Amino acid sequence: MNECIFCRIVRGEAPARIVYQDEAVTAFHDLNPQAPVHVLIVPNRHISGVAQVEPEDEPMLGRLFTVARRVAEEMGVDRGYRLVVNNGRPAGQSVFHLHLHLLGGRPFQWPPG
Ligand code: AMP
Repeated sequence: MNECIFCRIVRGEAPARIVYQDEAVTAFHDLNPQAPVHVLIVPNRHISGVAQVEPEDEPMLGRLFTVARRVAEEMGVDRGYRLVVNNGRPAGQSVFHLHLHLLGGRPFQWPPG
């Protein structure tokens, strides 16, 4: 998946404001932020979306959440933040590399649009 933009960011081949990286996941600021804090947390290995996750991905999927907690604390939004995963084009997915949106720093409405 050489052409995948998130794979290129993970490998350091495309520019991004990376806030965290380990052997399993990478977190970086969204290019088009929808909140004062908008960070994307992605697996380093290419997985297109939730529809492609397998039982062996469970450790990595857990890591996405522990890193979300860590980034939310570091960015001072841990009082309240939203985690979003869009899966499939009708749900708003536009980059087909699994990612958790971490949004914070403003109030959020429910139901979402
Ligand atoms: P989704 O619509 O859920 O697939 O989310 C994709 C997100 O990736 C959007 O919020 C985009 O703004 C963001 N995005 C796309 N390209 C880049 C990039 N090169 N660097 C950072 N964020 C990006």
